[in-house]
Amino acid sequence: MRKIIPLLVAGLVAPLLAPGTVHARPVPTGLSALTKNPIYTSGKLPVRSCPEYSVTIEDFLTAQNYLREGAECLDATWTSFFKKAKLPFRKPGMEFISKPTKTRACGNMDGFWGGAYCHDTQGLVVLVDGWMLEYEGTPFLFYVLAHEYGHHVQQRAGIIKAHYKLMPKSTKAAYKWHARLELQADCLSGAFLRSIWASTGRDSHDWQQLLTYIKEDMGDPTHGGGKSRAAWTDRGFKAGSPSVCNTYKAPASQVA
Ligand SMILES: [Zn+2]
Repeated sequence: MRKIIPLLVAGLVAPLLAPGTVHARPVPTGLSALTKNPIYTSGKLPVRSCPEYSVTIEDFLTAQNYLREGAECLDATWTSFFKKAKLPFRKPGMEFISKPTKTRACGNMDGFWGGAYCHDTQGLVVLVDGWMLEYEGTPFLFYVLAHEYGHHVQQRAGIIKAHYKLMPKSTKAAYKWHARLELQADCLSGAFLRSIWASTGRDSHDWQQLLTYIKEDMGDPTHGGGKSRAAWTDRGFKAGSPSVCNTYKAPASQVA
């Protein structure tokens, strides 16, 4: 009889589980989703070869190809990381556009600048427009894509849901709270870029240049100051791991 029982149990349980979710744990909720998320304790991102394609910002087709290739690398890296973290994962929707328009993921994007992630639809949008010319030849476009993908990682790991549930009521406090989410997306972006950096053929000068752009151009009250954004991006990059991206436990001075 002893031998039969486990077989019966397996027979009853197995059909209830969808393929690929057998070892998944429940997605965390509440404060522990923010401060004790399994993404902080699941090690480094796998090192992957992801050569950058040449891109001419004004030629939308090449920009689109560049982003598509980058998106495939992001999909592969984060899919395998979530497997390691034992959390269920699915890829985000992606739209690359050349002018502000109506999008599937985020609706009307008039006056839209750069990148966006809409957690209701789990889709991200990147606008390749004249504003990006200034950064041509640098990994800035890749950073924007990896940042928006970072929001998808937060969504799948239960962080976005907990973040909005625990959002403070006053506008000033809500801005500061929100900066923690954005700085974490920067850190996740940096960790990803590190995991593929060797294969891009870029060097430390390219990295420092990217950090300078982030510092000088990317600060705003809801995303954190430029200095903090560059610091968290660099922190993720140096570690190559989400383990250093716990912005919800960071002192206020680091997320301002
Ligand atoms: Zn963001």
